[in-house]
Amino acid sequence: MDNKGTDSNGRRFRPEDSQDHASGRRFREEPQERDNNLRRVPRQIDIDLGFDDISSNTRQSRDDFDDYEAFNSSRQRKSTRRESRSDTLEEDYGFINRSPGSRNGAPRRRQPKKKFPIFPVIFAVVLIIAIIVVLSFLGVLGGGDKEKGSASSSVSSSSSVRAGITIPASTLEPTSTPTPAVPPLNTKYGNIYPELQVEKKEFIPNEDGEKIIYLTFDDGPSNLRGDFLDTLDEYGAKATFFISAQFFDDAQIVESIKELVNRGHQVAPHTYSHVYNEIYSSVEAYLEDFKKINDLIKEATGEYSPIYRFPGGSNTGYNESIRKELFEEMNGRGFVYYDWDVSTGDSEGLSVSEQIDRTLGMALYYEDCIVLMHDGPDKQGTIESLHTLIPEFQNNGYSFGLLDPTVPPTQYAELSDYDE
Ligand SMILES: [Zn+2]
Repeated sequence: MDNKGTDSNGRRFRPEDSQDHASGRRFREEPQERDNNLRRVPRQIDIDLGFDDISSNTRQSRDDFDDYEAFNSSRQRKSTRRESRSDTLEEDYGFINRSPGSRNGAPRRRQPKKKFPIFPVIFAVVLIIAIIVVLSFLGVLGGGDKEKGSASSSVSSSSSVRAGITIPASTLEPTSTPTPAVPPLNTKYGNIYPELQVEKKEFIPNEDGEKIIYLTFDDGPSNLRGDFLDTLDEYGAKATFFISAQFFDDAQIVESIKELVNRGHQVAPHTYSHVYNEIYSSVEAYLEDFKKINDLIKEATGEYSPIYRFPGGSNTGYNESIRKELFEEMNGRGFVYYDWDVSTGDSEGLSVSEQIDRTLGMALYYEDCIVLMHDGPDKQGTIESLHTLIPEFQNNGYSFGLLDPTVPPTQYAELSDYDE
């Protein structure tokens, strides 16, 4: 980290607030939660089987809350349906005579006078129906297992055991679903997305003075990602992509992440919306945006990325009012942010030759150097510059590295700035 810091030229370049940065899109709708366990509760069996416990345990985010609301209203709809169904049954069984022109005889006409206890009967009927449903449900599963016979493997016998206690077991499923244990967060906002944390790693300084270029591309994936990947492949270069959701929908982004990783590159969060005013309006807002983009990475790769890049850089004026708390929160969760040593200027309106001159004029002074570029629909110039930059770096003895949390970061603003 020290040898990066010694180059005052590198430090002079502050994170830019480029056009594409400034004109970010608005927030999209919440990405749909993929798996809400509440929906898996058997539909027909919903009487006093511990739903309230389950829902309170799983109601952690607003998404879950919405589902909880939907779940409750569906319960209400169901119970309404059940009541109307029991009305029909009552009529079928002759408990209530609502037909004014009934052709029946005296016994029926006498019934209304008795003030027949309607509600207990409704309750009893509903209860009977529920019991019948439960028993038939058990019966069907039990029968199915019997058909498999004793010759079946132990797997099927264990599933039959499961089936035998299906009702309580399946209703308990939401809480018994193995959720990976996360250590308690003692950060100020640790009650928000407590699962959003990663294990901290030690930085490994580049003591041997290895010549490494860390190519980084912000803002993608875009429709040019294929061209970026082909260009990198052409020279055997690897890069780190700090992604956003500006150009693609969630499903396309997940597919793009998989492709980037499969082709040997690193993927890390930049921002979901790229709307600075919203992202940096509060620590909570930042966490929400960060989680949305890192969730897509987790969906594609199975884990959260431990590294990230702040939109506009760590020292952007947009985060000034929340910066200290933001760093404390993100550092406390184990995430490491990376600014850059050299910006090619591809988001500052520089021509291709200007980008090349500036980059080579600065990067070659570094032993290891983080280079900022952008992926976007209008970044053909960036691809063009790579065809010169990559061979130049290689000719000067550099290899291309991927950022990971062991690489000492370049950080324009850091928590130690607030030390007394
Ligand atoms: Zn950006």
